[in-house]
Amino acid sequence: MTTPAIASRLPLVGTTIFTQMSALAAQHQAVNLGQGFPDFNCDPRLVGQVSEAMRAGHNQYPFMTGVPALREAIAAKIETLYGRRYDSAQEITVTAGATQALITAILCSVHPGDEVIVIEPAYDSYAPAIALAGGVVVPVAMQVGEQGYSVPWERVAAAIKPRTRMIVINTPHNPTGSILRQADLDALAAIVDGTGILVLSDEVYEHMVFDGQPHASVARHPVLAERAFVVSSFGKTYHVTGWKVGYVAAPAPLMAEFRKVHQYNVFTVNTPMQHGIAAYMRDPAPYLDLPGFYQRKRDLFREGLAGSRFTLLPADGTYFQCVRYEAISDLPEAEFATWLTAEAKVAAIPVSAFYSQPTESGIVRFCFAKKDETLQLALERLARL
Ligand SMILES: *Cc1c(COP(=O)(O)O)cnc(C)c1O
Repeated sequence: MTTPAIASRLPLVGTTIFTQMSALAAQHQAVNLGQGFPDFNCDPRLVGQVSEAMRAGHNQYPFMTGVPALREAIAAKIETLYGRRYDSAQEITVTAGATQALITAILCSVHPGDEVIVIEPAYDSYAPAIALAGGVVVPVAMQVGEQGYSVPWERVAAAIKPRTRMIVINTPHNPTGSILRQADLDALAAIVDGTGILVLSDEVYEHMVFDGQPHASVARHPVLAERAFVVSSFGKTYHVTGWKVGYVAAPAPLMAEFRKVHQYNVFTVNTPMQHGIAAYMRDPAPYLDLPGFYQRKRDLFREGLAGSRFTLLPADGTYFQCVRYEAISDLPEAEFATWLTAEAKVAAIPVSAFYSQPTESGIVRFCFAKKDETLQLALERLARL
């Protein structure tokens, strides 16, 4: 008996760097600042509200588009924060995490041979999703200098071709911790205005923007919002990455196509989580307090590294801190991250892992969504280098 071989739909995909580094971290008993998730628990009130929903019998299929109370809470939140009113019946869909929202937005709009511009370094799920749709990834590299990472919009403009169907953006940005500002969105709007190009905006870190800066949501930008899928995730906002509940907002004609695919790749997202989150969202404090919560951790981590031989890049958003290590080592990023895990016993992620083509910048990413004592232990070890 032999198992028939299948020609891979994703021949270039292997084990992700996150899995590799986490395994290495466990092997060396290193502090894991690699993979991006909290090592602390969520608010017990949220757990209580989900448990309450289960006890109240909310345990069968909900509406395909999501529990109405949750869609309404999302629409109200977006309107309050970003000034655009999405119709909760037709323009908001609850998804199985942001990942499913992203792949579904791509599958519903990208046809074989269509080109999708991806700004790199980029979150790892975009390229495989585009490949499954038969699309072609057109990477545009961010530039990195003294002021940190920024998007060279003239290069994005130069990458536009007749087959360009979509541009994927991510702000605040994983892995760099940079944010897009109003001027960036205006530059993007000038590129896409009057074209048929869609925008897929990954805003899962919308509530992690620091130093009093606003989050420049695509939902707020009239030119962009008209052609955009805006994606967010409760996993990131409420410290529950394992729950996999997110959402997408888009104008009704785009959402109609989104839902055709959504209906057959997940159909519905788990019911009690949706009811629990809807109840929890009545209080805006948990997400309004999030910038302060993570800014304190960012500052603790940056102050701890200030005396070390790492050079800190700006960290305007997300829970990631990128650092240069040229004063410590001239190893390529992946080898340095491996060495750091084994020798210093702190795991990081090489930024080179977020590019489709070999790119070395001498930069690694640390995640500071960790308990203070976890950060302190990592800082003690990093300071010795
Ligand atoms: C974590 C993350 C996601 C995925 O979010 P889920 O809700 O866990 O699916 C998407 N984009 C970026 C940039 C992320 O960091």
